[in-house]
Amino acid sequence: MTGTLTPLPATFSSPLVGRLPALVTASPEAERTITHAPYTGEPLADLPVSTPEDVADAFVRARRAQERWAEVPVRERARILLRFHDLVLERQDQALDLMQAENGKTRRDAFLEVSDIAITARYYARGAASLLGPKRRRGAIPVLTHTTELRHPKGVVTVISPWNYPLSMAAGDAIPALLAGNAVVQKPDTQTALTALWALDLMREAGLPTDVWQMVVGRGSSIGDALLTGADYVMFTGSTASGRRIARTAGERLIGASLELGGKNAMVVLADADVAKAADGAVAACFPSAGQLCVSIERLYVAEEIREEFVAAFVARTRQLKLGAAFDFSVDVGSLTTAAQLDTVTSHIADAVDKGATVLAGGKARPDVGPLFHEPTILADVTPEMTLFAQETFGPVVSIYSFRTESEAVALANATSYGLNASVWSRDGARGRAVAARLHAGTVNVNEAFAAAWGSVDAPMGGMGDSGLGRRHGADGLLKYTEPQTVAHQRLQGFTPPKSIDHERWSRVLTGALKTLRAVGAR
Ligand code: NAP
Repeated sequence: MTGTLTPLPATFSSPLVGRLPALVTASPEAERTITHAPYTGEPLADLPVSTPEDVADAFVRARRAQERWAEVPVRERARILLRFHDLVLERQDQALDLMQAENGKTRRDAFLEVSDIAITARYYARGAASLLGPKRRRGAIPVLTHTTELRHPKGVVTVISPWNYPLSMAAGDAIPALLAGNAVVQKPDTQTALTALWALDLMREAGLPTDVWQMVVGRGSSIGDALLTGADYVMFTGSTASGRRIARTAGERLIGASLELGGKNAMVVLADADVAKAADGAVAACFPSAGQLCVSIERLYVAEEIREEFVAAFVARTRQLKLGAAFDFSVDVGSLTTAAQLDTVTSHIADAVDKGATVLAGGKARPDVGPLFHEPTILADVTPEMTLFAQETFGPVVSIYSFRTESEAVALANATSYGLNASVWSRDGARGRAVAARLHAGTVNVNEAFAAAWGSVDAPMGGMGDSGLGRRHGADGLLKYTEPQTVAHQRLQGFTPPKSIDHERWSRVLTGALKTLRAVGAR
């Protein structure tokens, strides 16, 4: 594992980066905050800090803009999203530079975010008109009740997005909210705000009216209340502890919340798995964005029969990974993003090793590569008294266990309060899918780490248990940002009897009608 420190790419000396902080909704006299580049620890961005008053102002402007935005036909909204899609692909090098500089991830990991946003924008832009359009529903009285389900925007949606997938999380959740006719006030994590602001800039260039999507910058402890006071719905991605606090406030205000939270994701390698493929899959599953991916794998369960062969293959591949800082596609594993993440990783490993865990690969921080780098690490002999046995590390660390039977593997994988993502490996696809259905996780990938389920944007994605509430992607990911309304138009005869029939006879008529409906197989 080698690498060298690298200077910032040209994007950072372009006028673009100088312009982005001015897109933050904050007063001209706002205090400033400086972020630092994970690769080097050097100062990176100088951003205004929004106050609770700035957030309140953003909501006033958003509410005004939303009324006009909701009048824009869905097909026109979709055209703006498709233009945004094209701009993201055309200018992807800027986004890759920004994401790498702010987050410390590799260019390969950053490119996944570009493709994710293109897929999400295309999917919702192409599907929004049919998902949001009026739907005829079965009426109370066949033929006589004309019932329609309408979808109205919620109003102003708060999106709170984290630093680990700065483009995917920032733009990916705003896209469906905007398409549904909402305005969005968003707080991207300060560390990765430039990437989010870049997406905002492109969306405005694509034609989105200015106040419909706004961004504020600041700590949750300072502007969190203001973000929830003004919102009609909140979309939060982050830790389970923060999610619980946000859910409490949303509950008091009786507004909906979608919460995409932490995980302790399991991968199950069945005895009939292709060992070489599963070992490649484990590398892809455990170390993307240095393990700072909500759906990455931290627990690996391997069938006893193939454990030795699998461990040898996985360890060999992991030891060959190139750790480094480079603004090109040459590196396999990048940096952690914050000193707090590095502390968590090193303390979890130290605690495990102190209590008897064996380090099979990696195990050390690498200040020689950069201040926040850590080797991809594989641990064995991990036991319940070690912190990382059950707690999420959110870093490049995986623990390997073995199992004897399929049922034991399922029980071990399910022995967690989380339920975000899982992965199952088998040469027999049907067997893999059957095991997948027994796992307590919102997404399960068979013979893939996470990209198959995540990339299937037509299907819902999200967590069970402590991993969250609500779903992104698919119809759920758009319709959650709407209020359903039922309009039922009663024609000719209503539910009260006509004047010529008394109530007793009327009840017999209705009883006959109900029996007929049952007999003809009506729903
Ligand atoms: P965190 O402490 O919960 O913070 C996440 C973001 O939310 C930060 O930008 C934070 O801002 C903000 N925030 C937290 N509480 C807030 C509040 N009350 N009001 C407004 N903003 C608030 O999480 P983290 O440790 O940085 O992120 C890693 C966690 O996110 C991991 O547990 C990971 O699994 C999870 N995650 C889940 C998904 C998913 O899709 N399920 C995706 C990515 C990450 P401040 O720091 O400024 O307060």
